[in-house]
Amino acid sequence: MQNTGTRNPATTPTHCPYCALQCGMNLTPVDGGTVEVSERADFPVNRGALCGKGRTAARVLAPGARLTSPLVRAADGTLVPAGWDEALDLIAQNLERTRAAYGADALGVFGGGGLTNEKAYALGKFARVVLGTSQIDYNGRFCMSSAAAAGTRAFGLDRGLPFPLEDIPRTGCVILVGSNPAETMPPSLRYFTELRENGGTLIVVDPRRTRTAEQADLHLAPRPGTDLALALGLLHLVVAEGRVDRAYVEERTSGWEEARAAAMAHWPEQVERITGVSVPELREAVRLFCAPEAAMVLTARGPEQQAKGTDTVGAWINLCLATGRAGRPLSGYGCLTGQGNGQGGREHGQKADQLPGYRKLTDPAARRHVAGVWGVDPDALPGPGRSAYELLDALGTDIRSLLVMGSNPVVSAPRAAHVEGRLRSLDFLAVCDVVLSETAELADVVLPVTQWAEETGTTTNLEGRVLLRRRAITPPAGVRGDLEVLHGLAGRLGVEKGFPVDPEEVFEELRRASAGGPADYSGIDYRRLARENGVFWPCPAPLADDDADDRTDAVPHPGTPRLFLDRFATDDGRARFAPVAHRPSAEEPDDAYPVLLTTGRVVAQYQSGAQTRRVAELNAAAPGPFVELHPRLAARLGAAEGDPLAVVSRRGRAVAPARITTAIRPDTVFMPFHWPGEGRANTLTNPALDPDSRMPEFKVCAVRVEVARQPSPHEVARQPSPHEVAR
Ligand code: SF4
Repeated sequence: MQNTGTRNPATTPTHCPYCALQCGMNLTPVDGGTVEVSERADFPVNRGALCGKGRTAARVLAPGARLTSPLVRAADGTLVPAGWDEALDLIAQNLERTRAAYGADALGVFGGGGLTNEKAYALGKFARVVLGTSQIDYNGRFCMSSAAAAGTRAFGLDRGLPFPLEDIPRTGCVILVGSNPAETMPPSLRYFTELRENGGTLIVVDPRRTRTAEQADLHLAPRPGTDLALALGLLHLVVAEGRVDRAYVEERTSGWEEARAAAMAHWPEQVERITGVSVPELREAVRLFCAPEAAMVLTARGPEQQAKGTDTVGAWINLCLATGRAGRPLSGYGCLTGQGNGQGGREHGQKADQLPGYRKLTDPAARRHVAGVWGVDPDALPGPGRSAYELLDALGTDIRSLLVMGSNPVVSAPRAAHVEGRLRSLDFLAVCDVVLSETAELADVVLPVTQWAEETGTTTNLEGRVLLRRRAITPPAGVRGDLEVLHGLAGRLGVEKGFPVDPEEVFEELRRASAGGPADYSGIDYRRLARENGVFWPCPAPLADDDADDRTDAVPHPGTPRLFLDRFATDDGRARFAPVAHRPSAEEPDDAYPVLLTTGRVVAQYQSGAQTRRVAELNAAAPGPFVELHPRLAARLGAAEGDPLAVVSRRGRAVAPARITTAIRPDTVFMPFHWPGEGRANTLTNPALDPDSRMPEFKVCAVRVEVARQPSPHEVARQPSPHEVAR
């Protein structure tokens, strides 16, 4: 593919810019100014395999696909090219003006789970030290925050996977809940294939018979929003069948009696009625899960993106704890994080309630430590701010100016038309992005920033493995790094020091800020990352002779691939059961909106599609949104394959062609969420928030579905009655 700028002469080993697998890849400059992505077999996570997104990632480096000049809003309303000084001055002046008129909390900052650790760290510091605002959060709140909240509640620590992926093929059974790695991270599928080749079993829980579910030994297809009840029903059977590991529960957990009582209130027959999963299927799942010595439960967005997501994940963790399948070799609960730096992005301070090192902003000791590293008064640090959706909902009212870095909420936020309206109502919007995303199109100033191949930085993959992404090519003239943006803005806002542009310098500070915290990176440095294929946190810096500054003779900490084997990270070392009970989704079907909508991804697009929709090969494979529905529902609607369907919720209307398949329940439709415009799935989704994680309920809402044209008399005549459609 074409690129501009000078290039390093040699092949550069680095990592994919997209999902949390962070596949290793090589970038090689070739004659004619092209860059090729090729296999990098030495990285153990993907062993050379790449999906189509990774293979084509370099397409977005092309000048035609990406921004190469700052843009400012002209008097006629159009975005026009501008110089960097003009653009940065404009941002700084507007932020200053807003702060003077309304106070610091009228300034908002919205980050992204794709930002490197260095950028996420610097962005959080910029918000709190330079702007003095508490109003910072990021799109990772939409991704895995319920799993983070449940993991912290149960284990005292949230790391997506507490073990490396390489453990999966060696366990006995995996329950994969609301996860479709065949579409979201295809190279990871081999771990599950190898599990089955080794004699293990795979259970997939998903309302759709996905490509992942097709490979399972057992597929459970609950009604969307009922997997909490499903987990409780399984735990009920574990108890009733005498499969509780009593010695483990006694020795390593607390809160069992309350959790047991809650589960025993969920009879299998009742769970069958709620979920649609039959009692024999429940019994078979329990048999498969409990038979081997070791087993795992892995969740993803399905159970997490619900207004009861934390409790839902908690119920699955309870199943692991009751059967002694956590904190033991080849056993445990894990979350398959989605975004490229979804793990690291939630550890270093761009989340509304956190300081670097996964510290709590409300913890006085944490505030003192981080303020010391930053050279500021701890009392000057703002407190926790609004969560992502709440922040977006406050735009134009409490929050008057917003800086967005690496996020496209116009497509990715729930109730997206409302969010788009809030963005339009701002006094001032600045967006840093690689491309002119739908959010950038609304901005007063757009800053074109570097991409993964053009910058060095670290990410932390879904295993908690800290990785080094290396710069392979020089960015085109007119493009700058996000760290340069923050440096330039900080200086203009009166903070001359503390915002270096060198990522290694930022990482060195991050190490000190994280030292002693739950996510301790202090024993990791760039040289080590360049030598090793990643280092698992926590990795504290070793101390020699009790002297923190004398580390020369100390043995480096090896990192921690496997957590909790000796004790959990709670105060008493015990894992905590969650006493959870089933409750309905925030929005259940009714006469006006009788069908359930669930949303998700397709293999050829990534998140809001801002980058992947600019790649011809990916667009050819996945050109636009669709509405997946069962033939019985299609018949009731009089819809044929490809017919435009209007999906209407209480928040808006989206139109996309019908895709008819028996792989989905008749009471449910599915839409992928990667596209803007008429087919934008998030126009429909419900922003009801989980009370703990503040995660919106993307995965279930009530809709009505109509053919977006007048049906012919013949179609009207052949519509079956509603009872024919019932499952
Ligand atoms: Fe990139 Fe994820 Fe595909 Fe790997 S699976 S190549 S990390 S998008």
